[in-house]
Amino acid sequence: MTDRGHSRRNFLQLTGAGLAATPWLAACAQAQASIPRQAIGRPWPNWGSLPETPPPPPKAGSIGVAVVGLGGYAIGKAMPALATAERTHVAAVVSGNPEKAAKVAAAYGLPDDAIYSYDTFSKIADDDRIEAVYIVLPTGLHADWTEYAFAAGKHVICEKPMALTPAECERMIAASRGAGRKLMIAYRCHFEPVNLKATELMRQGVVGKIQTIETANNYRVGKETPADNWRLAKALAGGGPLEDYGLYGLQVALYLSGELPVSVQGWTEQPKGDPRFSEVFSTVKTELHFPSGAVANLMTSYDADTLNMSNVYGEAGKLLMQPANGYAGNTLTLVRDGSSEVLTPGDSGVQFAQMCAHFADAIREGVAIRTPGEMGLRDIRLVDAIYRSAASGEPVNL
Ligand code: NAD
Repeated sequence: MTDRGHSRRNFLQLTGAGLAATPWLAACAQAQASIPRQAIGRPWPNWGSLPETPPPPPKAGSIGVAVVGLGGYAIGKAMPALATAERTHVAAVVSGNPEKAAKVAAAYGLPDDAIYSYDTFSKIADDDRIEAVYIVLPTGLHADWTEYAFAAGKHVICEKPMALTPAECERMIAASRGAGRKLMIAYRCHFEPVNLKATELMRQGVVGKIQTIETANNYRVGKETPADNWRLAKALAGGGPLEDYGLYGLQVALYLSGELPVSVQGWTEQPKGDPRFSEVFSTVKTELHFPSGAVANLMTSYDADTLNMSNVYGEAGKLLMQPANGYAGNTLTLVRDGSSEVLTPGDSGVQFAQMCAHFADAIREGVAIRTPGEMGLRDIRLVDAIYRSAASGEPVNL
């Protein structure tokens, strides 16, 4: 595979008459280039539902969290998790869409003065109901809004990926230290029973010396463009699938091997003439080489049939996970000595609330954060190295 460029030139090519032959392509050619890199109000997301009755009042000592960005993940997963975790609750919402914010606030039993806009966000500094902020914005906005939250004196849990560049991640870590407040990256799989069990088994050496790890994190995006889906807009999503879904495969390779790579090689695909991929890659493939000699092959794509798997092949057996990083129903099969065993270490659905509970433990008890900003930075440095490799056509030594 070759890197066919990572710029707006493919979008500009769309304005050619030949490519604007179908209605969708014609509409794309007339659309604005991309969603702007600033916090703006957006319509109701295409998934996520509200609680039928507001959660019970928070218990004494519970940490009030302001949720910034009311998209699918915030409404569908982050807010229900905050509401059900030990010692956290939703204390405020921050949105650029007043109607959406009012609807969400009402469902969570929040008063009107717990609704903030992006313009009034800094006023949370004076709101003692809010101890922490959960950033659930598009990735290109994470660094700025994390800094704003620290400037308001709050702790931060930030969705993955941490940010778009190592420099942005470093800014976030510096802001956390400067404010003396916690920074956690919301890497939910570190709290998910199947991934935790798989990691434990790998530490026990159940498949012998690890030879190969294979991961796939793929789905096919619909007929969208950077103007209507921020995941396709370079300024908000970076290179695309690797930072988003592919980050799970990258993380799995690190925590199942228990190693950091000594070299990486990346290959990117950006099909010409496809409006979905005028700004981001459609597919990224990566090879990681570990000090032990183990090799990981990672595939992530926005243009392949849905697949989410992580397999580890060792000298004495193999471990198969499919789905590996889902919200629910992750599976784990251990194959060795000619027999196959399906392991059921627990309900994958607990990961969200467990993660929020851990954030509370870090704030209240000073527990070391399992997924700190430094881990987010480590991963974005790897992403950066993968893209540098793809651009040069050479492996990058780390
Ligand atoms: P989404 O498009 O559904 O929601 C994004 C929300 O951000 C919008 O609804 C809007 O409220 C707000 N927003 C503010 N400025 C915006 C702008 N310029 N463009 C678009 N939206 C803007 O996205 P999402 O799927 O909820 O993703 C939000 C964050 O959550 C991302 O960082 C993503 O990587 C992360 N996420 C994590 C998981 C996970 O499993 N941990 C899953 C999905 C998303």
